[in-house]
Amino acid sequence: MQKAVRRSKQTETIYYKPVLALLRQPYVQMAAGKEATELKAEIEDKNLFQVPTELLHKGEFLTLLFSNCTTADGAIDYFSELAHLLENVIPPENKLDREFLFYYKKSVNLLRLNLEEMPMDLQVETVYKLLRQLVGSVRIPFEGEPLAGLQVMGMLETRLLDFDTVIIPSFNDDMLPRKQRNNSLIPYGIRKVFGLPTYEDSDAVFSYNFYRLLHRAKTVYLIYDSRNNKVKNSEISRFYNQLKYLYQVPMEERTVAFEIESRKKEPLSVPKQGEVREKLLQYLNLNSNKMLSASSINDYINCPLSFYFGRVLGLSEQDEMSEMMEANTFGSIFHEVMQDIYKPYKNEIITKVLLSEIIKNDYKIESCLMSAFAKHYFKRANEKIEMTGYSLLMARIIKKYVLKTLHFDKQRAPFTFLEGEQNILTQISLPNGQKVNVKVIIDRVDEKDGLVHIIDYKTGKVTKGLTFDDMAELFTASPQRPKEIMQTFLYSMIYTQQYKKEICPNVYSFKQLKDLPDISFSYQKEEILKYSTVAEEYERLLKSCLEKLFDKSVPFTQTEDVENCKYCPFIKICRR
Ligand code: SF4
Repeated sequence: MQKAVRRSKQTETIYYKPVLALLRQPYVQMAAGKEATELKAEIEDKNLFQVPTELLHKGEFLTLLFSNCTTADGAIDYFSELAHLLENVIPPENKLDREFLFYYKKSVNLLRLNLEEMPMDLQVETVYKLLRQLVGSVRIPFEGEPLAGLQVMGMLETRLLDFDTVIIPSFNDDMLPRKQRNNSLIPYGIRKVFGLPTYEDSDAVFSYNFYRLLHRAKTVYLIYDSRNNKVKNSEISRFYNQLKYLYQVPMEERTVAFEIESRKKEPLSVPKQGEVREKLLQYLNLNSNKMLSASSINDYINCPLSFYFGRVLGLSEQDEMSEMMEANTFGSIFHEVMQDIYKPYKNEIITKVLLSEIIKNDYKIESCLMSAFAKHYFKRANEKIEMTGYSLLMARIIKKYVLKTLHFDKQRAPFTFLEGEQNILTQISLPNGQKVNVKVIIDRVDEKDGLVHIIDYKTGKVTKGLTFDDMAELFTASPQRPKEIMQTFLYSMIYTQQYKKEICPNVYSFKQLKDLPDISFSYQKEEILKYSTVAEEYERLLKSCLEKLFDKSVPFTQTEDVENCKYCPFIKICRR
């Protein structure tokens, strides 16, 4: 962690991952308590990928834990004080951990004594390496009553002892004989010539102890793990082959495996009764703040059960801190920048000349980008944050999308910009008399040639392009369902209901960054220029879908198309 410190003239910061890993450590949480939780929350809330070191100095334990060691002596004092503080928090009943800590302290003291005896100008890094090596070589013995019961011991501890029953677990070839690490600077050849011990002597000692242990034993169990993995050798010990082929000892061989039986997956469904029904009915209550949105309706169409988990129970994915920009953050930044650019021109005619000026105004576009990044990516709105590395790269990409959109608008100009990020709260009346609360946020509303254009920006991949042949496709669960069309039609329907205007629905969809966006829908190979031409069919199907959603006799069931489950955040609880 000390190596992750990044220093510049004004600041000293540390990369967030080792800091969070330490703060999540149970003993650190015990020792630092509330301060560790608060610090972790602050880092996550503000997306501090580089954490200023002064922020880490909270309370005695965290101040020590995150202190900077600049000398070898300082590093040894650091480890010894940390071990001392941890000793006070590890409960006495946790004997194993206390034993580990005891041997750790012993290693620190040993290193201190050795360095005192041989004063050397060591670098801090060397101290870390020496301590790691020392701690890595420590073996912690199990304690027990040597004359009764099961004895767990290493091979060397069995010397001069006889047992009726011997069980050797880990009878793998790297454990018996134990794989030797060459810790000496003297090469093998020289050791051999001068009669110094080599790994062959060590193998011979293991061999002697193994065969001696078998001499008086009545029953011997040799257990080895045949699973193949990169960490362990899956081969049986060479002593087994010696026993079997050289000494021809009769042995009974058995393969033991866990029986893994996959549990039969019962389909999951939730009836709309009791509390579930009550929560659902809030969407029909004019005075409640429960509203359906285009994405919640899309969730329901894709999988009613996922709607139940997310929109009725209110479950959501845990927000993991990550430097990688999520698609929704990317989209939010783009939306925010476009909104900031167009906001000053509300109800004004946007001409080609004006758009040329906007495109040339790099300072304005950059400052819109910076403030959108501060708000959505760094989660520190109104702060001036310097972008570097990954964030700078993403900012360049978003800027390209913004410029593409502005160039495209220039081709469409002149038009009147009516509104951006327009919120509409309303109710949709269903044929059965129910009224459903709905809230939509329309990305942009323009007026051109006597038509109101509803514009939805899509920076991500549009599922199936903007073409469809059957209106029922919009309401049939499938990963290829053109959900963007369902969404823009919903906006058009609500806008018409509210303002009684003729609407042209458009989606600015960027197939590739180098292309200008596609905007028009095509239904049965005909371009949809007016929403009114499809309104009746669309609204009939939408309302029947909403009636089904609120029908108490239709439970929330799993989607039939398992492709929809691929990226579902509830897949673990759903056991699909
Ligand atoms: S895992 Fe599949 S069936 Fe289960 S809630 Fe998610 S989408 Fe629905």
